[in-house]
Amino acid sequence: MAAGAGYCHGVAPRSAFAPHRHLVGIADLDAAAIGVVLDLADRYQAIAAEPVKKLATLRGKTVINLFFENSTRTRTSFEIAAKRLSADAVNISPSSSSAAKGETLLDTAKNLDAMGPDVVVVRHAMGGAPHLLARTLRCAVVNAGDGQHEHPTQALLDAATMRRHKGGIDGLEVAIVGDLAHSRVARSNLLCLTKLGARVRLCAPWTLIPPGLTELGGEVTRTRSRVTTRLEDALDGADVVMMLRVQHERTSGEAPRFANPREFSRTYGLSARTLKFAKPDAIVMHPGPINRGVELAPDVADSGRAVILEQVSWGVAVRMAVLELLAGDAAA
Ligand code: ASP
Repeated sequence: MAAGAGYCHGVAPRSAFAPHRHLVGIADLDAAAIGVVLDLADRYQAIAAEPVKKLATLRGKTVINLFFENSTRTRTSFEIAAKRLSADAVNISPSSSSAAKGETLLDTAKNLDAMGPDVVVVRHAMGGAPHLLARTLRCAVVNAGDGQHEHPTQALLDAATMRRHKGGIDGLEVAIVGDLAHSRVARSNLLCLTKLGARVRLCAPWTLIPPGLTELGGEVTRTRSRVTTRLEDALDGADVVMMLRVQHERTSGEAPRFANPREFSRTYGLSARTLKFAKPDAIVMHPGPINRGVELAPDVADSGRAVILEQVSWGVAVRMAVLELLAGDAAA
C-alpha cells in the first residue's frame, strides 16, 4: 500500500498526532498524523455550514498570532479558527510591537510566553524561526510560514481541498508550477502530497528550480516527484494543477530569473489553452495572493475549474483542527 493509502476520511487514529506538541513543518509529520488533521478538519468544515459556528472546545485558552510578514488569508483564518473554538485570539504585527524598537524575535516571543498563551502562531521571514521558538517556549508553536522554508497549514488545507474534490490523495498526479525557488508552499506541499501517496510534477524555468528539491523528504519524495521545465509536460494528465506566484519580495538585489512577467506568463502561465493538457476534470489551485495575468489567467481563476476560494474556506477548518490538536484538552 502507498504511504498515505490507508488514510481516507475518518479512519486515522487520533493518537497518531499525540507525539506532536508543535506544528513547525510537514517534515515532522507522517501520513497518519496528517490524516488526523484532515479528518478533524472535515468535521470542522461541516460545522462552518451551521448557523451558529461557535464551539466551546478552546474556552479559556489564548492564541497569539505573531506575524512578522504580510498576510491576509493565513492570519485572518487563524483568528477566525481560534474564535470559532472560543479561544481568545490576540494579533501582533511588527509595526505595533517592540520588534520595531530593536527587540529580538526570541525576546519578543519569550515575553509573550510569559503571559501564558496556549499557542503562538508565528510567521517570519527567517527559515527556522518557528523551530527556534518551539525549542524555547512553554506554549505550543505553529508555523504560519517561515521564509522560503515551510508553510505546513497551507499544505494541509490544500490536501483537504484535494481530498474533498478527488476522494483521496493516494495516486493523484499533481502539477506544482511557478516560483519553486522561493515558495514555502511548494516545499510543504511536496512533502505532504508525496507522504500521502500522490505523484508531484514540479515545473519552473531552471533559474527558479532550487537544487535538491526532489530530495527534500528523502526516499518518498525522490521516488514520487520529478522536475520539468516544460509546462505541457507538467500538466499532461494532471489531476490537480497548483499555480504559484513569483515571490518578488524574496528576490530584491538578486539578478532577474526571467526576462519579464509577460515572457514568464507566456511560458509558464496557466490559461484556458494550456489547462487543456491536464485531465478534463483537473482542478486548479492557488495559495493566494494571485498575480492575475502572470501565473494565472483571470478567466481560469474565475472559472468553475478553480477551487481557490474553497482552499480559503478549508483554511479555517484545518486551522481549527490544528489548534484543537495542540491546545485542546486531549493535548494536555
Ligand atoms: N500566501 C502564501 C505564502 O505565504 C503564498 C504566497 O505568498 O505567494 O507563502
